[in-house]
Amino acid sequence: MTLESAGSSSDLCLNGLVIKPGEQVLTRLVISRLPSGTVIDIPVHVFRALEPGPTVLLMAGLHGDEVNGIETIRRLIRRQLLQPLRGTILAIPILNIYGFLNFSREVPDGKDVNRSFPGNPRGSLASRVAARFMREIMPLIDYGIDFHTGGAARANISQIRCLLHQDAETDALAEAFAAPFTLHAGLRPGSLRETAMQQGRRIIVYETGESLRLDEPGIDLGIAGTFRVLQHLGMVAEAAPPARPSVVCLRSTWLRAKYAGLFHSLVHLGQYIEKGQVFGAVADPYGETSVRLESPVAGYIIGLNHMPVVNQGDALVHVGRTDSAPSRSDLGVPFEEKPAKPQDIETEEDEEAGEAPEK
Ligand SMILES: [Zn+2]
Repeated sequence: MTLESAGSSSDLCLNGLVIKPGEQVLTRLVISRLPSGTVIDIPVHVFRALEPGPTVLLMAGLHGDEVNGIETIRRLIRRQLLQPLRGTILAIPILNIYGFLNFSREVPDGKDVNRSFPGNPRGSLASRVAARFMREIMPLIDYGIDFHTGGAARANISQIRCLLHQDAETDALAEAFAAPFTLHAGLRPGSLRETAMQQGRRIIVYETGESLRLDEPGIDLGIAGTFRVLQHLGMVAEAAPPARPSVVCLRSTWLRAKYAGLFHSLVHLGQYIEKGQVFGAVADPYGETSVRLESPVAGYIIGLNHMPVVNQGDALVHVGRTDSAPSRSDLGVPFEEKPAKPQDIETEEDEEAGEAPEK
């Protein structure tokens, strides 16, 4: 099924403006005022080709502290790379301005915009941001790439997340992006992705790195992947092919801390680990015990906790699972992040180490 794009062949109406084919516009969606009276608005760049075609959204900062996506879209704009041959590109570097100002994922009342769709114009702040997006942006778009990072000191390897093998157009977007990893991710209630899907719009999520840290390789991969998606949609003439095929993970498992203490990782992002392989250790801070942790599953390390102080139940590593072990040639690692191995952590073996998969 192909959508009839609202703005594909004629004037596009956004924020009270009429934007014609061939025009480039920066407009600001006013959301509200801070207690100080400062107006909070969301800048939206619009790049229209003369030629009709699909409308694609590039958006970041839905979680305000996830700066890699913000920087990715900023570079695309700054370098004047968003010049579609056909159709329209909407670029929103920061949706959650409040979170960006406060170095926070959420808005000031603690709510997550990405659990607040479709929102309510008279609801709480997160709900108002979502509602404004739904009114102004969602009706215009056919496809979208939503840029995120890991949260709370957990880094994600560069990966596309989407519903895999359920919708041919979504599969094609993910395949075109060709991030180092492609992960099947179910739709969460209240998320942008779920709401878009219900309206027949396809949005894939690109994750790289962690919040409040710039991940240069991941930003480069994000720009390259975006170009491949635009090429797939006939909106740019050329895009560099990926360095290697994406590793597709249809399942994933979080390994969690059974013990509180200091976490030492013995793995790096992108590494393949075998079932039973030691991936780290948790030590008490007083030098009494150290317990090594074995993985109950085989797979790739696609997410890694960088916070050494862990509580029981904290997520330590995210293992992406493929149906078969990789061949040698698949084992190229996008990140060269090699942990130093502490000398004293393999003192005691815990029979039960290795957490049960998250349900
Ligand atoms: Zn996020």
